[in-house]
Amino acid sequence: MKELTDDEKYNAIVNRNKKYDGVFWFCAKASECYCMPSCKARTPMRQNIRYFDTQVEAQAAGYRPCKRCRPDKFISNPDKKWY
Ligand SMILES: [Zn+2]
Repeated sequence: MKELTDDEKYNAIVNRNKKYDGVFWFCAKASECYCMPSCKARTPMRQNIRYFDTQVEAQAAGYRPCKRCRPDKFISNPDKKWY
C-alpha cells in the first residue's frame, strides 16, 4: 500500500472516513488518547495532530485508546476475534 500524505490523512479525519480505519491512527498532541480516522470526537487543529502507522507506536508514545472510537477493539479482519 502506498504511503499516505499528511493531506490525505487529515482529509480522512475531517471526513471521518471509515475506509482509513485500521490504516493509520492519530492523536492530538495535547490529548492522552489516540483515535481512528472515523472518530466522532472533535477534529483537532491540523498542526496539533500526530499520526501513527500502528497502534503499538501510539501506545509507545504514551497515548491510550480513545473511549469513543475504541481503536483497541477495531477488527480489520472480521474472521479474527480479538475479544
Ligand atoms: Zn476517538
